[in-house]
Amino acid sequence: MKTEFTPPDWAYEFHGHRCPFMPIGYRMGRLALLKLGAERVKDHDFFVFPELGDGHPQTCMMDGIQIATSATYGKVLMAKKYYGKLACVFYHPEKGAVRYSLRPEFIDAMDGFEFFAYRRRGIEPSQIPYAVTDEIIQWTMEQPDEVLFKVELKPDFKFSPVKGSFNKTRCGVCHEYVYDRYVRFKDGIPVCIPCQQSE
Ligand SMILES: [Zn+2]
Ligand SMILES: [Zn+2]
Repeated sequence: MKTEFTPPDWAYEFHGHRCPFMPIGYRMGRLALLKLGAERVKDHDFFVFPELGDGHPQTCMMDGIQIATSATYGKVLMAKKYYGKLACVFYHPEKGAVRYSLRPEFIDAMDGFEFFAYRRRGIEPSQIPYAVTDEIIQWTMEQPDEVLFKVELKPDFKFSPVKGSFNKTRCGVCHEYVYDRYVRFKDGIPVCIPCQQSE
């Protein structure tokens, strides 16, 4: 068995290197869309909440999740939770929420691959021999979905996105535009945050 959810070539180009975690995130995103009966998001009605943090090496998953769902950081559809966990909640306002997490047994099995011996020595993915990287990517793709992922529906999940606004004001100090949510006041005049903070 090989998963049908393999990233297109441009996904690797966008991501910048070959690694196992971008494809895992891609597969997680495709499966979550399927599970919720949702389409790749065109505008702003699908949200992803990765539970990853900073400073651990699996964060590449988030690029795969964005590529699969188009719930991108730039559209403000992705917000990290900083739990330091290999999981993500996917939410559609009408179709509900589902959480995908990587099974500890799967992580343990991955740890045995030579790829991580290189990574632990501080070697970046693009510097690891192609065959070593390919070995772990191919192995991952051959594992059934249920070996990789624990899946939990989250019927009580709630999320209210910030309401968009086009209202803007010119900062009284630097005269640049600042959108209204971020306008602050200093000596009674509207200012931007950097001007408020500078003396
Ligand atoms: Zn990567
Ligand atoms: Zn300013």
